[in-house]
Amino acid sequence: MTDDLTNIPYETLISETQLQARIKELGQQISADYAGQDLLLLCILKGGVLFLTDLMRQLSIPHEIDFLAVSSYGKEVRESTGVVRILKDLDKPIKGRSVLIIEDIVDTGHTLTYITNILNARQPASLKLCALLDKIERRRVNIPVDYIGFTIPDKFVFGYGLDLDEKLRNLPFIAVATG
Ligand code: 5GP
Repeated sequence: MTDDLTNIPYETLISETQLQARIKELGQQISADYAGQDLLLLCILKGGVLFLTDLMRQLSIPHEIDFLAVSSYGKEVRESTGVVRILKDLDKPIKGRSVLIIEDIVDTGHTLTYITNILNARQPASLKLCALLDKIERRRVNIPVDYIGFTIPDKFVFGYGLDLDEKLRNLPFIAVATG
């Protein structure tokens, strides 16, 4: 397959049907685990946006959302350094709240380690992680991911919120480049 707008050849790694089925399961699990709690879904921009909006439609419990935008240094060597700059902070304090981070992908784990250290200092009641994709082979730091959509091989993926040079986030499935 070749994208009509960018001419980039790709194949589907995880289909739209597979994504939506797994997100439904995650939604049911999170709804059960957080019943009766003051749940805040904290989406890491930009990659987590499509996952957030589909996941929240599968939750049967009340919740709020907020957004954190970070820029990670070191991407040019295809490995984040863990030095993260906050580009957009949360709108409200998280002290005493049950916070669930919604992330597109965990790769080395550096970015999430840095983010969780910053957020834990703000004293939430709990802080857990939900990642759509987990590239477990590339992990450099041990960070527990509480909810995982799919474990994937060490390949660069895009679509469904994840970018290829800032484009193709709109694909409704997860793709890998071919050729
Ligand atoms: P980490 O700090 O875990 O190495 O990096 C996590 C971040 O790197 C993700 O939030 C995402 O922005 C980016 N990233 C890692 N692997 C991929 C990938 O295969 N595709 C895309 N588009 N971004 C990735």
